[in-house]
This record gives sequence, C-alpha cells and structure tokens, in this order.
Amino acid sequence: MEDRASSSASENSAEELQRAVRKGELVPYFQPEYDLVSGRPVVFEALSRWLHPERGLVMPDRFIAVAERTGLIGELGRTILAQAGRRVADWHRRGRRIGLAVNVSPSQLRPEFATTMVEFVRALGLPEWTVTAEITETPALSETCEEVETMQALIAAGIGVSVDDFGSGFTSIEALGRMPFTEVKIDRSLMRRPGAEADALAIEAIDVARMRHAVVVAEGIETAQDVARAKGWGCDRGQGFFFSPAVPASDVERLLAAV
Ligand code: C2E
Ligand code: MG
Ligand code: MG
Ligand code: MG
Repeated sequence: MEDRASSSASENSAEELQRAVRKGELVPYFQPEYDLVSGRPVVFEALSRWLHPERGLVMPDRFIAVAERTGLIGELGRTILAQAGRRVADWHRRGRRIGLAVNVSPSQLRPEFATTMVEFVRALGLPEWTVTAEITETPALSETCEEVETMQALIAAGIGVSVDDFGSGFTSIEALGRMPFTEVKIDRSLMRRPGAEADALAIEAIDVARMRHAVVVAEGIETAQDVARAKGWGCDRGQGFFFSPAVPASDVERLLAAV
C-alpha cells in the first residue's frame, strides 16, 4: 500500500510534522478494549492519526519514529492527550464512564512528565485511575532509573501504567518482574503465533501480572478463536479488529450504544 514516494516523504517530514502538530492535523482515533467477561467496551486507546490535507489519513508508522528522532514526540503526545482527554471527560459527563489509554514513548519518561500528566488529568476532572499510560517495551526500559522512577511516580499518583507490546521480543519475564506496572498488554505477534511456546510465554507473563494485581489485555484479537485463546490464557480484556478497529471520536457513541 505504501509506495516509495510516500515513504521518502515521511522520512523528510520533520518540519512538516511540526507544522501539522501545531495546525491540529494530528488527532486521536479510539480503539476499544472489551471486557472479556461482560463483553463491554471499558477502555478506549487513543491512537494518533495525521489528517494530511493532501495525503489523507496517515498512520503512526509513518510519523511516530520521526517524532521520536526529532524530539517532537512530547508535543505530539500532549496534543493527543489533550484532545482525547477532553473527549473522554465529555463522555463521562454524559454518563459513559469509560477509561482512556494513551501511548507514551520511553523518551518521554522524564521526571517532569509524571507531574504534567497528573495535573492535566486532574484539570480535566477525570479520576486518575481511569487513565493509563501505555509504554512500549524497549531493551533498556527496565534498566534506566529515570524511566522507572517516572513510571513509579505515575502509579503513585493513581495513573495506570501499562507495559505495551509484551512478547514482541524485547522484554523477558525477568525484566517484566523488575518493572513497575499496573497492566500488561500481550503483543499481537503472540496471538498470531500458534503453539504451546506462545501459550507458555503468555501464561508466564500473566502469572507475573497476577502477583502484582495487574490487569492483562490481549492485543490483536481478530477472530472468535482468538477470543477463546485470550480467555484461556486468563486475560481480562481483549482488543482487536474482531471487536473494532480504531475509529474517529464521532463513532465512539455508536460503539457504546451497541452494548
Ligand atoms: P500499539 O499501541 O501497540 O497499538 C496497536 C496497533 O495495532 C494499532 O496500530 C492498531 O490499529 C493495531 N491493531 C489493533 N488491533 C489489531 C488487530 O486485530 N490486528 C492488527 N493487525 N492490528 C491491530 P496503529 O494505530 O497503526 O499504531 C501503531 C503504533 O504506533 C502503536 O502500537 C503505538 O506504539 C504507536 N502510537 C500510536 N499513536 C501514538 C501516540 O500518540 N504516541 C506514541 N508515543 N505512540 C503512538
Ligand atoms: Mg498501545
Ligand atoms: Mg500495543
Ligand atoms: Mg502492538
């Protein structure tokens, strides 16, 4: 689907991306996480989309790495949290008490990040425990003091901290055990991989999560069989195209009304 032109365009788009963030072209789409027992959508994950005036809908794999490399990721994260937070606060006021998850790059985990995020969530009037920061696992995540301390500060303030994409290859069970978290998201590559080895890794991660009283979410649920497998592993929630892809804010009401 991606041609060479759009790929090289994205690699040169740091300045364009900065302008786009400031012009409000970066918006959150929302993908629900379903409670596997009640079958209801309980949390919405904000996933960035670039509504490009000429190129149309641009996906995060075209711009998140650019934003990380050029130091724009903080500003991008703030605009997504601001927009998504306002939407969720609005849904709360209308009686829809759903949670919000936002993605956070490890490079954002500076000490001031926790303070800023907590203040922001409080200013919106959202209960801290309804908001989760999803942090993508990286090789160094559990080793860097500043990052671990920021994760601890978020948890101490009542914000959820999720280890995103567990099983995608970087984090071992041992490293997971050393990390502060309130949630683990099992990467969709594990769901796509059949067999006992993938089952064993998922179940081991879930054992660690249970000892920490953490929530477990399975990503990449595409079929009814995937739902059964996630339940068999012992996951609390599922997310994936079987339930719903990420949708614009205007479609969230429809997803909430369907249950
Ligand atoms: P992620 O946080 O692991 O999000 C899940 C990705 O998998 C999303 O891709 C989602 O659309 C896709 N997905 C969901 N269900 C399924 C499924 O059943 N099958 C398949 N094949 N895919 C599924 P998306 O939206 O393209 O985002 C990609 C990644 O970009 C995210 O992975 C996250 O790491 C990053 N990202 C997105 N928005 C932000 C952001 O605002 N800030 C930061 N730092 N990272 C972001
Ligand atoms: Mg995520
Ligand atoms: Mg993920
Ligand atoms: Mg993933």
